[in-house]
Amino acid sequence: MFAERVLSGMRPTGRLHLGHYHGVLKNWVKLQAEYPCLFFVADWHALTTDYDNPKGIENSVWDMVVDWLAAGVDPSQATIFIQSRVPEHAELHLLMSMMTPLGWLERVPTYKDQQEKLASKDLSTYGFLGYPLLMSADILIYRADKVPVGEDQLPHVEFTRELARRFNHMYGREPGFEEKAREAIKKLGSKRARLYEEFRTRFQQNGDDEGLALGKALLEEAQSLSHGDRERLYGYLEGGGKMILVEPGALLTEASRMPGLDGQKMSKSYGNTIFLREEAEPLAKKIRTMQTDPARVRRTDAGDPERCPVWQFHVLYSDETTRNWVTQGCKSAGIGCLECKQPVIEAVLKEQEAMRERAQPYLDDPSLVRSIVADGCDKARKLAQETMREVRDAMGLSYS
Ligand code: SF4
Repeated sequence: MFAERVLSGMRPTGRLHLGHYHGVLKNWVKLQAEYPCLFFVADWHALTTDYDNPKGIENSVWDMVVDWLAAGVDPSQATIFIQSRVPEHAELHLLMSMMTPLGWLERVPTYKDQQEKLASKDLSTYGFLGYPLLMSADILIYRADKVPVGEDQLPHVEFTRELARRFNHMYGREPGFEEKAREAIKKLGSKRARLYEEFRTRFQQNGDDEGLALGKALLEEAQSLSHGDRERLYGYLEGGGKMILVEPGALLTEASRMPGLDGQKMSKSYGNTIFLREEAEPLAKKIRTMQTDPARVRRTDAGDPERCPVWQFHVLYSDETTRNWVTQGCKSAGIGCLECKQPVIEAVLKEQEAMRERAQPYLDDPSLVRSIVADGCDKARKLAQETMREVRDAMGLSYS
């Protein structure tokens, strides 16, 4: 199989906040230690909704990458790049647009949702309709088989899988496929060739999934195959044509439970955020003045942590002993809200201090960030070009 790869992107919409950190970045930091990861700035995606106001994008891009680095994304482990610096994304998007039924795009659940939510913008554009396809091109071009998504984005991954299947079905049937596959089997060597045939029969005649898995593992290990032959044999194993685009899988991630300062979802548009790398004093002040259980009007009123946004911070930041102290103290009016907020202030400050420290070298010398991104774009582009060669070949656009 192709190397396991994680792909995830973020739109450059300005400074990031704790909602982004707990909802996305912490997960990226974990994933980068487990898989080869590609993290990209989705600047073209930002244009699908903000095409009439592109000015803020450039600064937002660099601020956002510094926030990623501050959060612990490590360029020695993960590839960081900007979508528009890898123009192959646009090429694949265009080529796939030729074979994508309009109805598939119109049925993407977020299409109507977003149009209604962002009613103040005119989103009856070709770019907005096509953004799920651009997203699919982002994934398919890296043959990323692991895409971290929340439950609400699963339909996007399924849409991408359907597109890959449609593409492979349409263009994977090269002339003489069967003969080429037979030739490729010989290159496995006699023992492996025999096993491959056996696994293929197990899967195709008996529907045995283990046969399929074993066949894929065998191909993964076979050093003697060219890229093209390997793809042929994956396709032949499954009974299809050459596998050009890889169907991605979803890595389901839990939605962040990080509330804003007013208990609603943390979001810049609600003005209830704590930004990453925020200075200590304003940050402490924000938490000191944040809303609590409305039933606790006076210090002597008992409260209920479940109705208080501060409690959600304790869930994320405090240990069990502190959480027990909060529950008992709140319900018995034994502690005041300011007292209750103090451990949260300390924990958030500690986390932010580490982020500020990590960000400092990049703020002192912005060329470091530029060069990390330039390296990342080079690496990403090489991978994207590999896929595009196969895609152009399959679609008769190689002109060699
Ligand atoms: S004591 Fe803590 S949990 Fe209870 S209402 Fe005050 S801030 Fe919220």
